[in-house]
Amino acid sequence: MTKITGILFDKDGTLLDFDKSWEPVNRRASLFAAAGDEVLADRLMVICGMDPLTGKVSSGSLFAAAAPSEIAAAMSNAGAPFEPEELTAHLDRFFIEGAENAVAVTDLPALFKRLKARGLHLGIASSDNEASIRAIAERMQFMPYVDYIAGYDSGHGVKPNPGMVEAFARRQNIDLSEIAVVGDNTHDLHMARNARAGLAIGVLTGTSGIEALEPHADYVLASIEELEGLLDRLPDPAVS
Ligand SMILES: [Mg+2]
Repeated sequence: MTKITGILFDKDGTLLDFDKSWEPVNRRASLFAAAGDEVLADRLMVICGMDPLTGKVSSGSLFAAAAPSEIAAAMSNAGAPFEPEELTAHLDRFFIEGAENAVAVTDLPALFKRLKARGLHLGIASSDNEASIRAIAERMQFMPYVDYIAGYDSGHGVKPNPGMVEAFARRQNIDLSEIAVVGDNTHDLHMARNARAGLAIGVLTGTSGIEALEPHADYVLASIEELEGLLDRLPDPAVS
């Protein structure tokens, strides 16, 4: 296999602890979309994949994996009294505000600094909007180590299409086979496969269990804290 020179991270559930970060935001967004009707808000949460009682978001659901435009369309369909486009704009606002309360999986500036010291190209590919991704990277102070950011509105398409990975490869002038994609959802792993990326790595800090990720991943890690250990034990392409 080719040497890995670039890592493309998903954000929610990968860099950020999904449940701690997004449960309160999803609740507020649903109540807003329901115009304050708590019964409808509960129904919208269920449709988007969140249990209103436990706050647990199920794997592969809209809240776990979809872009705000898709969530807005589903909510509007289910009776939210908004046009999808208008609701998308409101949801974007909730998700940007939510970014201010996001909880990181680990010390991200320290991790990114160490990965950068290995000479790696580092990128983020998220179904969130680009402004939210940038806001998080700046607030959590790892932006100086990030070479590339793609959101659903960056013009490279959405997951699991390969566009975000292909643009990262072009931007950094590296081959797709040199890129490891790291994510908590099968959308991330399918994006890696569709782009013919070098590695698809699953992490368990999001909404998916190991049984969901393993069939689509080269490796599944408990979290990104295990990533450097994995890089150290990858076969050396120069030797084989
Ligand atoms: Mg994710």
